[in-house]
Amino acid sequence: MVVHTDIIREEKTGHNVVGFINNNKPDTVVIGAHYDHLGFGGEGSLYRGEPAIHNGADDNASGVAVLMHLATDLQHMPNAKNNNYLFIAFSGEAKGLYGSNWWSQHPTLAIDSLNYMINMDMVGRLDSTNDVAINSIGTSPSWPGITKLKGSNLNIKTTEGGIGPSDHTSFYLQGVPAIHFFTGSEEDYHKPTDDADKVNYPGMLRIARYIEAVITTLNDSTKLAFTKTADTDTSKTPRFSVTLGVVPDYMYDGKGLRIDGITEGKRPPKPD
Ligand SMILES: [Zn+2]
Repeated sequence: MVVHTDIIREEKTGHNVVGFINNNKPDTVVIGAHYDHLGFGGEGSLYRGEPAIHNGADDNASGVAVLMHLATDLQHMPNAKNNNYLFIAFSGEAKGLYGSNWWSQHPTLAIDSLNYMINMDMVGRLDSTNDVAINSIGTSPSWPGITKLKGSNLNIKTTEGGIGPSDHTSFYLQGVPAIHFFTGSEEDYHKPTDDADKVNYPGMLRIARYIEAVITTLNDSTKLAFTKTADTDTSKTPRFSVTLGVVPDYMYDGKGLRIDGITEGKRPPKPD
């Protein structure tokens, strides 16, 4: 018996959107947030129903809004003038960090002129716990010092590893100290219900202020040192290939595993 398979290759083009504040300094700080989401669903969606628009208010209109806010403020902050600032709104994040990976392989500024990178992916759901994750602080010895900045009542939680499911990973893999701000996953993650009415706007402003404090704190220091973290395999960027059908609560640090959400209609994976 002969089995025929046809593969239809579908190509799509995405565009990163880049802005630059030139302070005529040798070093540049990258501030990034992906702007793509899932459209009407499809691969990556955790929603099982009639096609419906996935607006992605938290993931990641929230990060883009904070990025635009920072781009406005950083033009006028006298205590943040020792670096240039490159703002990148990435495309193709949800499909596998395509936009940030492309930029890191085809950079518009020399990689060794980059001081550090700050990524914002899902910063719209600050809740009454005031918990904010700063992921990947193992990527520079300077990062732990910015987790307890005065004047903020945010409750900062941290992870070490430079590899994570968002765009800072692409910079870490190029040897750039890179962190990720994150207010945690939620049950609306990758569903049409991730919408604007559930976003905490004052919370986003508080996170923007915190990031501004990080930038001004680091303004006087020389270029940040880079450290490799204890990831087992740095040759691969992670992809969302959840097969348990659950969304773990990434902010939970108690015993066991807490679940933020489930994939509707997901069955246990078949062994391969
Ligand atoms: Zn995202």
